[in-house]
Amino acid sequence: MRFTTSGQSMSPAAINMHLVYQERIKQLEHKLRVKEENIVVLKTENAILHLKLAECLNQTLVCSLGDTEMYDHNGPHNNEHRSIDAAIGKLSLAVQDLKHNLQSLRVFITEEWKQYQNQLKDHIQSLLNHLQELQYSSQCLEGMNEKILTLEQSLSEVHEKYRTEKLRRKILHNNLIELKGNIRVFCRIRPCLPFDKQKSFNLQESSKEITFALDDETVLVKCNRPGHLAVDKIFHFERVFSPCETQCGIFEEVRPLITSVLDGYNVCIMAYGQTGSGKTHTMMGPHSDAGTESGAELGLIPRTAEELFRLILERPAGCHSVEVSIVEVYNNEIYDLLAYDRCTELSVKRDIITSKDGKSDVPSLTYESASNTEEVLNLVQKGLELRVKHSTLIHANSSRSHLVVTLTITTHAGFDEPKHASDWQNQKSVETKLQLVDLAGSECVGMSGVQGAALREASFINRSLSALSDVLAALSERRSHVPYRNSKLTHLLQDSIGGDAKLLIMLCISPCQKFITESLQTLGFGTRACQVPRVPVKKRH
Ligand code: ADP
Repeated sequence: MRFTTSGQSMSPAAINMHLVYQERIKQLEHKLRVKEENIVVLKTENAILHLKLAECLNQTLVCSLGDTEMYDHNGPHNNEHRSIDAAIGKLSLAVQDLKHNLQSLRVFITEEWKQYQNQLKDHIQSLLNHLQELQYSSQCLEGMNEKILTLEQSLSEVHEKYRTEKLRRKILHNNLIELKGNIRVFCRIRPCLPFDKQKSFNLQESSKEITFALDDETVLVKCNRPGHLAVDKIFHFERVFSPCETQCGIFEEVRPLITSVLDGYNVCIMAYGQTGSGKTHTMMGPHSDAGTESGAELGLIPRTAEELFRLILERPAGCHSVEVSIVEVYNNEIYDLLAYDRCTELSVKRDIITSKDGKSDVPSLTYESASNTEEVLNLVQKGLELRVKHSTLIHANSSRSHLVVTLTITTHAGFDEPKHASDWQNQKSVETKLQLVDLAGSECVGMSGVQGAALREASFINRSLSALSDVLAALSERRSHVPYRNSKLTHLLQDSIGGDAKLLIMLCISPCQKFITESLQTLGFGTRACQVPRVPVKKRH
């Protein structure tokens, strides 16, 4: 760090100027020294010439005295005297020349010296001016640095305020949703995957990405279909997950709902989207044949079970008990995936009824108790093995039925340590349900390219999903009649859709151009779901 004469630190530009001028002064000083040395040399030569002149004059005098004597005494040497006189004359002319030259040299050197001094003065003056300018500039720079620091500080304060306000807005929004009892709609856009790039017969179908998460609440679809005007469509949801969001990140947004279950709310988490859009990936995790056994890829069902038992462990022992039931809605029939029919080697078909209190009920459905995550997952695995699967041309692992995993949590009020099995009945217990739904693919039948039995499956799926849409439409228009019973799916989910449960719909989207129709359909479904006004959610205890 350099300092100016006033002790202030100098900027790098000022330091550079300072160095340039120091170099210039050094050069000028060097020139001055050379000139001074020249003057000394000339003075020395001058002195030597003076000496030589004196010597010559002396010799001339001695000679002239001798000659006079010789002339006086001998008389005949006139010629020699004349040539000596001529030599003396030449010599004195040369001396005069030398004196003259010396005088001119002196004048020249004095002039040069004056000029040099004037130049030096000018340079020193301009150096001083530059130094002053530099000082001024460095003062300005310091002032600007201070301003920048102040601005940076206020920017980070504004950032902090923005963060706090955003958080506050989110909390208020959540409170509002809590009060309104609105359906929460999240949207997850999956990454573009190798099978998206597989060749299609339809040349207009492209694997180009057209659906994006603009921010964590906005989806952008770049619609550029042949024969249509290119338009950007924007959709807003409570939370939008981009393709790079992790399974863990998604669960973090869902986690508060699991706490709500133990707080006494019915909760339903439902994945909606076309086949291959990532519903099963989101709900369960990667397919077992994908070879990714890592816990990091686990979906919402295993994570939810784990969180539920973690929360239960924090409560007094014996306060809660958990039962698992798994059903599949296939071709508008309900199958109990925990009841194995040995004759048919299939799951057992069940009826669905509306109970006296207006709730939907599946009599004789199998409920298996579970006391930890592993037990829940073993039961889910058992259920999945019975699930009817039918591959379509879209995806080899396509699920053609709706899967509903229900965890029924019984809370034994004021119960600390159960001592006997009969104690459970003596307590006033409350049941809350956590329903996890992996819906069948919402694609259009035409696109699947299916026929026969598969076509029947697809049309049942379409009908049940339309029934779900109709129910949401009826609810959003506050119609007196809501057509829950138009389909077994809506009948089964009646309490979660229009009842007092907290419903979360996870829209799953494929980002590619070739799925634009399905993506827009899914986003439209989600938008309608957002508009459903629901009664404030009711705590069950
Ligand atoms: P769906 O249940 O909607 O038919 P899947 O969940 O089976 O769709 O997803 C289809 C394929 O895409 C699967 O191989 C799955 O692992 C993969 N996939 C889906 N979502 C993601 C994601 N977010 N990240 C990585 N792979 C995904």
